[in-house]
Amino acid sequence: MLFSQFDLSDSILRAIAEYGYTTPTPIQAKTIPAVLKGGDLLAAAQTGTGKTAGFTLPILQRLINNKPAANKREIRALILTPTRELAAQVHSSVQTYGKFTDLKSAVIFGGVGANPQIKAIQNGLDILVATPGRLLDLMQQKFISLTSIEILVLDEADRMLDMGFLRDIKKILMALPKNRQNLLFSATFSSEIKALADTLLNSPAFIEAEKNRGNSANEAITQLIHPVNRNEKRALLTHLIKENHWEQVLVFTRTKHGANKLATQLGTDGISCMAIHGNKSQSARTKALADFKSGKITTLVATDIAARGIDIDQLPHVVNFDLPNIPEDYIHRIGRTGRAGSNGIAISLVCIDEHAMLKEIEKLIKQEIPKEVIAGFEPDPNAVAQPIQLRSNQLQKINQNPKKKILQSKTPSSHVNHPHRNGASRFSLSKKPPQSGLK
Ligand code: AMP
Repeated sequence: MLFSQFDLSDSILRAIAEYGYTTPTPIQAKTIPAVLKGGDLLAAAQTGTGKTAGFTLPILQRLINNKPAANKREIRALILTPTRELAAQVHSSVQTYGKFTDLKSAVIFGGVGANPQIKAIQNGLDILVATPGRLLDLMQQKFISLTSIEILVLDEADRMLDMGFLRDIKKILMALPKNRQNLLFSATFSSEIKALADTLLNSPAFIEAEKNRGNSANEAITQLIHPVNRNEKRALLTHLIKENHWEQVLVFTRTKHGANKLATQLGTDGISCMAIHGNKSQSARTKALADFKSGKITTLVATDIAARGIDIDQLPHVVNFDLPNIPEDYIHRIGRTGRAGSNGIAISLVCIDEHAMLKEIEKLIKQEIPKEVIAGFEPDPNAVAQPIQLRSNQLQKINQNPKKKILQSKTPSSHVNHPHRNGASRFSLSKKPPQSGLK
């Protein structure tokens, strides 16, 4: 199958060809015709499958086909994403594929000044890519009107709900015209996502990126566990990077503090490294990402949400320095490698505290991940599990939704208290009050 076989204008086909794509990925082969037809769509698509072009290309085409009635430029397509990085990434795709069309687009997200964004909106737009918080903010200040929206995309909807954006999304939906096309993309399907899909979508076409992709991991990714003692993870990581001459490795930690600490330690070990997380300024995040992409640094240490939207072609190695508390995050994390058909390796350094988490992850992906002990880093067979400190906004999530499954290592002296809705922490180890913002 070739892109030229779709009902896409020459202006779009030219941009695709210039960008170097020839054949659509499996999800693109399904979403492009489905979106061109005009109906709603529910797509089970992990990151790395090519889903962005899967919705961007047909949206551009539909906007070209449906010329606005008056000679007025109003926002007709709205793409919502959970994070700033993903918003920037999606907007860059919109610009790339739309470069030979007359359509105008902009991206808005928090953490940077609103004035240039407001100016771009006032100059007239066809397509807006946004994170929910900044969008609502500018809507409330009456800088944005969404009354002409024809197409709405919720990208990585599972992540938006995980980040607590459901209420914002509902407010945004209320400002949209009833008659519109809705596209919902999600890597995983919790009951919350299904409920959102039920209220949002009208007889949607259902598309899966690949068979069994719903809650499973990408088969192009080789997964491996290295069992190791809690305090030897960093030495093992340095050993792996140096021994194997890894040149580009994305490392996940559970907390922002952990990311900073590890980045500093790896630096002392002689590994060029930076950390990326929600406490870093947008410019520091952008620079870290650019240096990582260009090969200036070999290692990027990231927390889950900060890593969303990191799109690096053929990223070879992902390391879970800590396992994630939410099993679905494991799929998101390892999905940073093995993108668009290339192969990747995802390694998890697992200590005794994380055995319960690992079990939940293996249950979710319906497979046992192979384990390999590295010589010199054998775990102590007599080690006793210790409780794991959760990050602060995990607590917020629990307080907002006590039913949400957050993994916790089971220890003989379990420290899990009863859930509270009144802001008190469910986990006695973490003293910090719930906070909002990025992990
Ligand atoms: P996405 O899942 O949209 O984040 O895309 C994942 C990666 O696949 C990105 O690096 C894209 O540039 C790349 N990609 C998307 N579509 C194609 C295609 N048809 N052929 C080759 N690479 C693609």
